[in-house]
Amino acid sequence: AKRDGRNCFKIFESNMKQQVEEALDLETKLRRSSERKDFFLHYQPKMRVSDGKIMGVEALLRWKPDGDMVSPVVFIPLAEETGLIQTIGEWVIEEACRQLSVWQQRYHLPEDFSASVNLSVKQLNDDSVIHILERQLEEHKLSASLLEVEITETVVMEKTDQNLKVLCDIHNLGISIALDDFGTGYSSMSYLTQLPLNVLKIDRSFVNDMETVQGAAIVKAVVALAKGLSLKVVAEGVETKEQLERLKELSCDYVQGFYYSKPLANDILENRFSKDFGRRDK
Ligand code: C2E
Ligand code: MG
Ligand code: MG
Repeated sequence: AKRDGRNCFKIFESNMKQQVEEALDLETKLRRSSERKDFFLHYQPKMRVSDGKIMGVEALLRWKPDGDMVSPVVFIPLAEETGLIQTIGEWVIEEACRQLSVWQQRYHLPEDFSASVNLSVKQLNDDSVIHILERQLEEHKLSASLLEVEITETVVMEKTDQNLKVLCDIHNLGISIALDDFGTGYSSMSYLTQLPLNVLKIDRSFVNDMETVQGAAIVKAVVALAKGLSLKVVAEGVETKEQLERLKELSCDYVQGFYYSKPLANDILENRFSKDFGRRDK
């Protein structure tokens, strides 16, 4: 009743009890997994449109509490509501950096290779994320340019001085910043010049719509906007050859999507690295 504007009442139904119990159960499991760091990462390759080479990966969090995968779309908001996102987000950064340093020792990664991690806006509410990033780069002797963080437009809506300061600090460390799901959240674009950004990621809903004249016009405009602001542009959710060809014509820099690769477990990704980049010890 509160959610529907407070000034009303709702009849209690038995399925509500079930929903509440399920939500509580999920929260208990998330809390336990967060203590045990019982998560893993999959990595989706980002590919350069001009030559089809892998130029980086995005780390995506995976959680299998009872053997079945729960989508991050479900548990990330729960982690944010419960405050668990701080601990979980820290683990994601640690794990991605650890893995990145293994890849770097094992393969001839391209100079401009980067691994990105998604940051929740909640992780920008205090300075701890800066220290975590700094510590991980140092511990694994990684250059900051190898790392990228992805934020969404919610950062813009919750744009506090604190959030902005944390973003600037991250940027000053030399870590690149990508704006994820661009175009889905916020209607004003003035913030594009106020945030320290390096990359725009076009949301997959626009890529999906590219067969229509209007859809193609939007993608074309976003690519032009990114270029005008000297930002790199990544198209998300590329699923067909036609979409890829079209993006090539539009001079989009990078693509990510099932057409090229789903998010992969590390062993499968390393097979690709081995073929594409070659191992250092061979
Ligand atoms: P995102 O950062 O925009 O990640 C891209 C999502 O699109 C991923 O879903 C990926 O599997 C999916 N995807 C990639 N290519 C395609 C495609 O061609 N077609 C379709 N239909 N989907 C594609 P996933 O892994 O389920 O993640 C969903 C969202 O959860 C992410 O969206 C991100 O916002 C959030 N998320 C994932 N991992 C983390 C994390 O470690 N921290 C935080 N804060 N959020 C995370
Ligand atoms: Mg992302
Ligand atoms: Mg996205």
